[in-house]
Amino acid sequence: MSSTAPATAPAVTRSLAPGHSDLVIVGAGIVGLAHAFEALANGLSVTVVERDRQPVGASVRNFGHCCISAQEGDLLGLARRSRAGWLRAARAAGFWAAEAGALVVARSATEAAVLEELHAERGGRGVVLRTAAETAQALGRASDAAGDLVGGAFLPDDLRVNPREATPALARWIERQPGARILWGTAVTGVESGTVHTTRGPVHGERILVCVGHDVDYLFPDLAEEHEVRRCRLTMARAVAPEGFRTDSAVLTATSMLRYDAFTAQPSAARLREEVVGHSPELLGIGANVMFTRLPDGSVLVGDSHHYDTTTPPFIDERTFELLTGAVAGVLGVERLRILERWQGVYASSDRGPLLVRDLAPGVRVLSVTSGIGMTLSFGLAAATFDGALAVTR
Ligand SMILES: Cc1cc2nc3c(=O)[nH]c(=O)nc-3n(C[C@H](O)[C@H](O)[C@H](O)COP(=O)(O)OP(=O)(O)OC[C@H]3O[C@@H](n4cnc5c(N)ncnc54)[C@H](O)[C@@H]3O)c2cc1C
Repeated sequence: MSSTAPATAPAVTRSLAPGHSDLVIVGAGIVGLAHAFEALANGLSVTVVERDRQPVGASVRNFGHCCISAQEGDLLGLARRSRAGWLRAARAAGFWAAEAGALVVARSATEAAVLEELHAERGGRGVVLRTAAETAQALGRASDAAGDLVGGAFLPDDLRVNPREATPALARWIERQPGARILWGTAVTGVESGTVHTTRGPVHGERILVCVGHDVDYLFPDLAEEHEVRRCRLTMARAVAPEGFRTDSAVLTATSMLRYDAFTAQPSAARLREEVVGHSPELLGIGANVMFTRLPDGSVLVGDSHHYDTTTPPFIDERTFELLTGAVAGVLGVERLRILERWQGVYASSDRGPLLVRDLAPGVRVLSVTSGIGMTLSFGLAAATFDGALAVTR
C-alpha cells in the first residue's frame, strides 16, 4: 500500500472540552468502531456520531466471518493485521471471538483441485487439505451416504465472531473509556474541516473520519458517483442447526470459491465456474455465495445472494430464499432447514476497487469498504489509518 498522510494527528493529550475531540468518527458500524478502538489505543480522544440508537447496519447483519485466507495481495496483509486487532478488541470488550477457522467443502474433483492449488501456492500456510471423511465429520454428517463430498480445506487463520454481539459490545466498551463518547440518535448532515454538522448541533474535532458504509452517497453524492458506489443487498436467514452440526468454523462452498480472490486466482477456477454454470445456473443467477456459520446459541446463519442497485428495493424474493436455504441443507445433508428469522443485509460495493478512501478537505477523510469484506478488514484498516499506511483512492 502506498503511504499518505493519515486522517488522524499523532497522539495528543486527551483533555479536550466536551464537544471537541481529537477525532470525530461518523458511523458506529465495525469500521467506525475499530477506528475508535485504535484511536483510544493511540491516546486520542474520540467522539462517535451515530444516527441510530444501536448498531443495525451491515456490521450486525453478516456472518461474523473474518475471511482472512481467501484474500490476496494487499487485502491479505490488511486482513492478517485485522485478525490481531479483532482478538485485542474481543479481549478488551469481552465478546466472543473464536479462532475457529473456515472449512471449504469440495463436492467435485474441480473444487478439490482449486483447493489443492491454493494449498500449493501458499506453501501450506493457512490452507490445510481435508479428506472427504474429515469434511463429513466437521459438518456433523454421520455418514456420507450421498457420496457427494470429495474433500475440503481448513483455513485455520480465519476468525469467527457473533455479529449481533461484537459491534454492540465494542460500542459499550468504547463508551466506558475516558476520552470517548458515542452520540447515539444523532444524524450527521454535513462535514467540513474541524466540524461535523448534526441534527443536534455541531460537533468539533481535530480530525474527522466518515465511516457510513453504503450510505456514503447520502452525505457525498458526487464522491459516491465518481467511485461508482452501489448498494449490494443480500438475503440472509437464521436456522436451527441440524443435529450433529457443531463446528464454529465458517463453512464455504463452490460458489464461495467463485467470489474470493484467493480461489479465483487459481488455474482451475475457470473450469469451476463452467461446472457451476452447468449444474447450478440459478444459484449463479442470484450471485450466491452459499455459506453458513454457527452462533454460540447453536443456531446457524445462512446465506447469501448478491443483487446490486443504487437504491435498495425492500423486497426479499422467495425463490432466492429457497435456493439458498436448499443449497445449505444439501451441504449439511438434511432435507430442509427450520428457519427462525430472515432479513436483508446491505453493503457498499464498487467495481472501482475494494476500498473508498478519500481525503475531502484538510483533516476530513471518508472511508468505506466497497467489497463486502468490512468485517474482515476493519481492524487492519484502523491500524493502517493510524500508521499512515492506508492508500488513498483517487
Ligand atoms: C449479509 C451480509 C453478509 C456479510 N458477510 C461478511 C463476511 O462474512 N465477512 C466480512 O468481512 N464482511 C461481510 N459483510 C460485509 C460487512 O458486514 C461490511 O463490509 C461492514 O459491516 C461494513 O461496516 P461499516 O461500519 O462500514 O458499515 P455499517 O455497519 O453499515 O455501519 C455504518 C453506520 O453508519 C451510520 N450512518 C450512516 N449515515 C449516517 C449519518 N448521516 N449520520 C450518522 N450515522 C450514519 C449507520 O447508521 C451505520 O450504523 C457482509 C455484509 C452483509 C450485509
